[in-house]
Amino acid sequence: MAITEKELQEIVRQVISEMQGLKPAQQEETGVFDTMEEAIAAAARAQQEIRRMPLEFREKIISSIRKSTLENLRTYAEFGVSETGMGNVGHKIIKHQLVAEKTPGTEDLTTIAWSGDRGLTLVEQGPFGVIGAITPCTNPSETVICNTIGMVAAGNTVVFNPHPAAIGVSCYAVSKINEASMAVGGPANICTTVKKPTLETADVMFKSPTIPLLVATGGPGVVTAVLSTGKRGIGAGAGNPPVVVDETADIENAAISIINGATLDNNLPCIAEKEVVVVDSVADHLIDAMERNGAYKLTDPAKIQQLAEMVVIPNKKGKMQVSRDWVGRDAYKFLNAIGIDADPSVKCIIFEAEENHILVQTELMMPILGIVRAKNADEAMEMGVRLEHGNRHSAHMHSKNVDRLTRFGQMVDTAIFVKNGPSYAALGYGGEGFPTFTIASRTGEGLTSAKTFTKSRRCVMTDALCIR
Ligand code: NAD
Repeated sequence: MAITEKELQEIVRQVISEMQGLKPAQQEETGVFDTMEEAIAAAARAQQEIRRMPLEFREKIISSIRKSTLENLRTYAEFGVSETGMGNVGHKIIKHQLVAEKTPGTEDLTTIAWSGDRGLTLVEQGPFGVIGAITPCTNPSETVICNTIGMVAAGNTVVFNPHPAAIGVSCYAVSKINEASMAVGGPANICTTVKKPTLETADVMFKSPTIPLLVATGGPGVVTAVLSTGKRGIGAGAGNPPVVVDETADIENAAISIINGATLDNNLPCIAEKEVVVVDSVADHLIDAMERNGAYKLTDPAKIQQLAEMVVIPNKKGKMQVSRDWVGRDAYKFLNAIGIDADPSVKCIIFEAEENHILVQTELMMPILGIVRAKNADEAMEMGVRLEHGNRHSAHMHSKNVDRLTRFGQMVDTAIFVKNGPSYAALGYGGEGFPTFTIASRTGEGLTSAKTFTKSRRCVMTDALCIR
């Protein structure tokens, strides 16, 4: 039975106030603490247990986290939408299911071996210990669950400093994960967090001698902050993924793929198509096919201007930035707000623009796609590279010309490059491979998984154990 908005808001309010009123003994069980110091100490104690455990037991805990997540898909999805106002329930269910079912566990860890006359040498992937992780409001519980599975599979525990706008659902995920660990005899506090995450609590995490590795999933500010700490950092930063369409592409497939990719969770994933560059000779066909598949085309320049002024606004210092009030909102709500009658069947807003248009240049994270025409494929690919802004994050292309696909892939140099499908194929949804919501674009690890959260350890036996 579906929960009403009012009932849901009440649940959110209750969970947050319950978390805030937790007694110390309860904090030990849920993993949600008053202070960052306590959260770090508890995760450190749990890590001592995890590292002594057989791999099989780690895997048992991970299976229990997967099961618990699958049992609570709707709660996670509704909680996330209700608390942040971003995304939509159906797609958040898919994202949590993907994380629960396909995030790699201990099987991701591999060994390199050399054997010969002088013995046997192994390179093993060992844990760092306690990892400090910063998580975004766009995929909050998805990231907490996905990070924890990978980090615990590798033998670590993790302390989160979640985005304050998503603290309720992030704490809910932390408590569910610990409950799942304890349900199979594992320790509490395999992941921990604080009730009120702030820049100060993040700073305590950055400076803690107990934490050797920091993982930042978020915008440029937090990634730069983490990479400036002097500690090892994994930086999963912002993107502005272009999708290039040339005249050889299957245009109908391109239109459907772009609409589906760009509207997943109302464009919240950092990998989602954020603007289209299309070769002029097929632009009309593409736009027509997009309109037939749920896009609303804005043509009035005054309305486009109104939309731009509504969603990209100056901050206190006068710098233009996306309006939080509009990130991840439904497409029809933007149209209604600029005086256009529309209903929820509209999946996405499209409009034609020049490359330098603010809605094309800015990473909006909204179901709004600017469409830029290029004279030919070369110009389109060059524009795609410029629009990616050197984030080295994600770029996509629709083409049947393998040479061009190869060239754009080399030129744009991103962690993710999807061809002839929706962006989410890169997350193993409609494509091969595993999912993650931490794509280490800035530091180059790419799609993170258990092995990313390990350090390389050489284990040498001299003059024995070679049985060749
Ligand atoms: P955000 O940068 O506003 O916040 C991310 C996190 O960083 C939050 O927990 C926030 O509280 C914290 N934070 C911000 N500045 C900080 C600082 N100076 N020190 C310590 N902590 C700080 O991002 P958001 O709006 O939550 O998420 C959207 C952004 O994140 C987009 O740019 C998106 O592309 C990016 N993102 C990237 C990935 C990836 O895998 N590369 C995944 C999700 C989101």
